[in-house]
Amino acid sequence: MAADDSLVIHRADWVLPIADDYGRSVEPIREGAVAVEGEQIVGVGPATAVLAAFDSQVPVREWSGVLMPGLVNAHTHLQYTSYGDMAGTGMPFTEWIAEVIRRRAFTTDDDWANSAADGARMLLETGTTSAADDVTDSPALAPVGATGLGGISYLEEFGYDTANWNSSGRAHLVERLDSAPSSREIGTMAHAIYTLDPEPFADILAIGRQRGMRSQFHLDEPAAEGSFVSSGIGACADNARAAGWDLRLLREGGAGVTPTRFLADLGCLSTHTHAAHGVHCNADDRALLRVNGTVVALCPRSNRILQAGTPPIADYLREGSPIALGTDSLASSPSLDLLDEVRAAFDVARAQGYDAPDLGARLLYAATYGGARAMGRHIRGADTQGRAPYGGLYPGAQADIAVMSIDSAIGSPVDALVLSGHCRATLLRGRVAHSV
Ligand SMILES: [Zn+2]
Repeated sequence: MAADDSLVIHRADWVLPIADDYGRSVEPIREGAVAVEGEQIVGVGPATAVLAAFDSQVPVREWSGVLMPGLVNAHTHLQYTSYGDMAGTGMPFTEWIAEVIRRRAFTTDDDWANSAADGARMLLETGTTSAADDVTDSPALAPVGATGLGGISYLEEFGYDTANWNSSGRAHLVERLDSAPSSREIGTMAHAIYTLDPEPFADILAIGRQRGMRSQFHLDEPAAEGSFVSSGIGACADNARAAGWDLRLLREGGAGVTPTRFLADLGCLSTHTHAAHGVHCNADDRALLRVNGTVVALCPRSNRILQAGTPPIADYLREGSPIALGTDSLASSPSLDLLDEVRAAFDVARAQGYDAPDLGARLLYAATYGGARAMGRHIRGADTQGRAPYGGLYPGAQADIAVMSIDSAIGSPVDALVLSGHCRATLLRGRVAHSV
């Protein structure tokens, strides 16, 4: 193959492709290389083989450590980066969300924009190249787009009973969608079934679908969500009443089922949607998510800080449920570093009895391929607009690559990444977006 100005071979001690074009997990490659042309990967393998496949004039960039797919944060709210002090206050979920709502009244459009831009930078500095970013206030959109971060901005709506949705909420979402900047892929987000009537919840997803967009929602985060859906009682019910929302599940005393069953019956579980949290999902709930192909973004550190419970990570893994990882916002998380979330998930799964040696590899897969699947970009052809997949290193994938330093004294590169990985550089669609 002839030399090309845009062709570069990145070479490192280890290459961790994580996944191939079929989503199968791939073993680490010692002394590996990744060839990148423009925004796409054009070769992956042992360095000797990759170098032999290209002209000797092609520039080679040497890195120490590991090349892996850019991390994919499957649940965050970058506009709340400036609320970072809240994560250390010890407030349980229902108090915390009331405090978020109180602060929102004093946060300006410029604050949202600056906060979201800061969050996007933190992601790029820690090897994350794509994020599912939930956006309640549209001024937070453009600054994230300007950083080049990949992923989807999900325009979030909450606090609508059916009457208010029909009179104003629907028009509000449509106006936001129509005026969203083109620098980010856009989706829709139904906040949660305890802040929206079932009709607006389903409508938010349907509006996204009609526009060829993906959607997201919070699912089974606080334990009180379960009592709200089953019986119309508890802290989520009290909050809804205090906010003046005339929600059907309150009036009817609940639906007698779990939140997951309720949303499945409402037609909200599909391969076009993904859920955040899934803390209290039981075996039947997890099976519903699995058969519908709905990825769950697990955020164990946020759950711990908000005292929302511990997600059944070992069960999700044993059952083969599609999972991803998310940091949630800095208002409920100690960092936006997704490798920190991998470490937390590792400890949770071990404590829950998952003792197989593949734990680190499976969680790195969730933190890359799993997030890409949540956003419909995990394999070639998955994206309806023909955009390149990400979440794995293979020819044809988008050249989103994290360079991680590791403690080489630790045996396997996977274990070393989980225990000691630290981002040294981030390549975003082939270009260095961060480097130290
Ligand atoms: Zn969230």
